[in-house]
Amino acid sequence: MLQLSLFDPNPASARPLSQGNADVIYSDASAILARPTGRLGDLDFVINPYQGCTFACTYCYAAFFVPEEEQRERWGQWVRVKTNAIAKLRNSRQHLHGKTVLMSSATDPYQPIEARLELTRSLLPILAQRGAHLAVLSRSPLVTRDIDLFRTFDRINITLSITTDSDDIRKRFEPQCASIDRRFEAITQLSNAGFRTSINVAPLLPLYDAQAFARRIIATGVSRVHIGTFHETTGPFASGTRQPALAIAREMGWSEERRELVAAELRGYLNQATHHRFAA
Ligand code: SF4
Repeated sequence: MLQLSLFDPNPASARPLSQGNADVIYSDASAILARPTGRLGDLDFVINPYQGCTFACTYCYAAFFVPEEEQRERWGQWVRVKTNAIAKLRNSRQHLHGKTVLMSSATDPYQPIEARLELTRSLLPILAQRGAHLAVLSRSPLVTRDIDLFRTFDRINITLSITTDSDDIRKRFEPQCASIDRRFEAITQLSNAGFRTSINVAPLLPLYDAQAFARRIIATGVSRVHIGTFHETTGPFASGTRQPALAIAREMGWSEERRELVAAELRGYLNQATHHRFAA
């Protein structure tokens, strides 16, 4: 159901200007359907209903895609709502039937402001009506809110990112994100509802018990797991892991060598339990 408040003639009352301590900005986007690049090349289109993300993960690579330095530095303290996203998608002449559309690559489509504005939710029926296949990527349990709309897609894959087995570690690197338990509950609910699901362990953060973590992942019913590690940044405009996360990692001894070792260990436990066809 479209949240009409986004188009209220009195924006001051209809559009929240803050989300927690973060600023909420409203502006039109030049386009809403983008062609993916790089590692997302096997997808057909990407939609980012928002720019910026108040989950504020310390490692977020999406911060590097923001052109203004001040916004890069204030990453996590602002989010821009693309106010014309629904109209742009509705009016788009792109052929979407059978094409895979990712929500999202450079923002979280289910970040906290989405609970109030329902912009992501408003885009889903348009995609389903036009026969698109949907790929969802989020860190938020809010994703389960849209199960009713997910059922209207012919093909869908829902991925939740769960990066560690420890909430102490999670609070250091991604303090604004939901707890690990809530994310495990959400992805299990989605698997049990019959959707094809995946877990993204990226970037892999320190683990207390890789074997128990692997067992917990398998118990969710997901069909794929992706494991990724930090990418050291090579320059101020290079996409990679942000400095705040690298500083925490150094402090914790989460070195490249250690990361590769634990990633291999986790991959081994996952593949051992699922006949070597599970984790990439
Ligand atoms: S949830 Fe995703 S987009 Fe948002 S800050 Fe974290 S890594 Fe970046």
